[in-house]
Amino acid sequence: MVLNSPAFIPIRRLLVLVGVCGALMACLPLTPSPSPTPATSTPRPLPTAAPMETPVPPDALSLAPRYAISLTVDVAHAQVAGEQVVRYTNAEEVPLGDLYLRLFPSTPGYGGEMRVSSIRLNGKPASPEVRLGGSALRLLLNPPLAPLETVTLSMAFTAAVPLTDGIDYAQFSYVRGVMALPEVYPLIPVYDDEGWNVEVAPDYGDAVYSDVAFYQVDVTAPPTMTLVASGTCAVREAGRWSCQAGPVRDFALILGDDYQVASQVAEGIVVNSYFYSGHREGGEGVLKMAVNALTLYSRLFGPYPYEELDVVETPTRAGGIEYPTLVVISDRLYTGHPRLEWVVAHEVAHQWWYGVVGNDQVDEPWLDEALTQYTTLLYHEFLYGADAAAEILKSDFQATYDRLVKEGNDMPAGLPVAAYPRDLYSPVVYRKGALYFHALRQRVGDEAFFAILRAYYRRHRYGIATPDSFLATVKTVTGSEHRDLYERWILGVSR
Ligand SMILES: [Zn+2]
Repeated sequence: MVLNSPAFIPIRRLLVLVGVCGALMACLPLTPSPSPTPATSTPRPLPTAAPMETPVPPDALSLAPRYAISLTVDVAHAQVAGEQVVRYTNAEEVPLGDLYLRLFPSTPGYGGEMRVSSIRLNGKPASPEVRLGGSALRLLLNPPLAPLETVTLSMAFTAAVPLTDGIDYAQFSYVRGVMALPEVYPLIPVYDDEGWNVEVAPDYGDAVYSDVAFYQVDVTAPPTMTLVASGTCAVREAGRWSCQAGPVRDFALILGDDYQVASQVAEGIVVNSYFYSGHREGGEGVLKMAVNALTLYSRLFGPYPYEELDVVETPTRAGGIEYPTLVVISDRLYTGHPRLEWVVAHEVAHQWWYGVVGNDQVDEPWLDEALTQYTTLLYHEFLYGADAAAEILKSDFQATYDRLVKEGNDMPAGLPVAAYPRDLYSPVVYRKGALYFHALRQRVGDEAFFAILRAYYRRHRYGIATPDSFLATVKTVTGSEHRDLYERWILGVSR
C-alpha cells in the first residue's frame, strides 16, 4: 500500500524530474529517450534477464488451500452473494483443534458487512463462533485435523458493499462506477508459531495475512461492466466470467462501468492498464511505468511468475493498494499528479514483496513495505540515474528520519502496525525502514546486495518470510547477518 500521507512523496524530487523531463509522461521510457539527458541523471543500464529460478518443490504447493467460489454481483443493490467450497490441508506440524475464516468485508477498514450461512464441515452442518466483531468465524475441529489431513468446508455468504469513498481507503466500495471487491469471500488466515493470525489490523495498514492458495472463481455480473481480477479470467457468456488464480495470497475483483484498457507484453507477461475513458493519457503513462517496473524487477530479483499483471484505476483514497497479480491506483493521480509514477512503481514492487514472498503484513509490515519502498528507489535509480535516486534518498528517506529523531519521534521500524501512531507509521516503517536496506547495500556492495534479494526471492517464493529468514539469507550470501545494521535500523531508536 502507499499511504495517503502528506509526508509521503518526494514531491520536491518529482517536481525536479518533471522539470528535467519537460513533462512527467516524457520521462517514462526505460531506454533513454532521444531528448538530452542531463549528465547528472544518467539511467543505469538494465540488467540482463534473471536466470530461471529453482522450481518450488511440488509438495509445498500441493498442500495449499483450494477455493472454488461462485459470486453473483448485484450492482443495483451493491450486494454480492456467493457460495464457496474450500479444501484446507493441515500443513503444520501440529494437529489443529480449530480453524478460522476471516470476513474482511466486515472489518472496520472495509466498512461493509459479510454474513455467512449454511456452513458444512466435511458435509456436516457446523456452527461457528462469531469473533472479532463479526469479522471472523471460529470452527471447532473435533477430532482435531492431523498434519497432512484435509478438511472440506462449504458455505454460502452475502456481502454488502459501502456506497461511499469515506471509509478508510475505500478499498472495498462501489463509488464512481467502480465496484472494488478485495477478499469478498471467507478467507482462511495463516496459522504460524503464534497460532491463528486473526487480529483486526489498524485501518492505516494492510489487513490481510494469508497463505498462497489456488482459486477458481466464477462471477456473474452485468455484462456491460468490465471485470478485472487476480489471475486470468475468460468470458464464458455475456455476464459470466470464469477466473483462475494461483498460487496467490488472496483474490481481488474489480468491476467498472467505464474502463478502457491499454496492454503491452513485457518479459513474456501481459501488462494491462485499466483506466477511466477520460483518463487515456494517464492510463497509457501508467502502462509504461508498470512495464518498466515489471521488466526491471524481473531482472533484478527473479521472474514474475504469473501470466498477467493488471494495474487498475479506482476511487481508492490510498495512493495505491497491492493485490495478487493486480494493483489499484487512485484515480486522483491520473491527471498529471507527480505522485503517479512513484505509486505505480511501489505497487508493482509489492508483487515481489508481499505477493510472491509473503510476510506478516500486520505484525511485521517493514519486511514488505520498507523493501518495497527501497525497490521503488531502485526503479528511480535505473530509470533516472544514481543522482536522481540519491536525491530522493536524501530529501525524502533521510530527511524524514532526521526529522523523526529531531522531534523525539523515532521508533523501531520493526514493530506491528498497531504499535505506531497513525502519523508515524509511514515515516518510520516506509522511510526509516528503507534506510536499513540502503545501509546493508552500502556495507556489502551491489553484487552481494542484489544476490541477497535474488536468494530471498527464490527461497521464499510462495512462502512466508520473517525477519530471521531475511537475516539468514544475508548470512548465506555474505557470511554474516550484519546484525548491527538490523539492530540499528529495524530494532533501534535514536534519541
Ligand atoms: Zn506498500
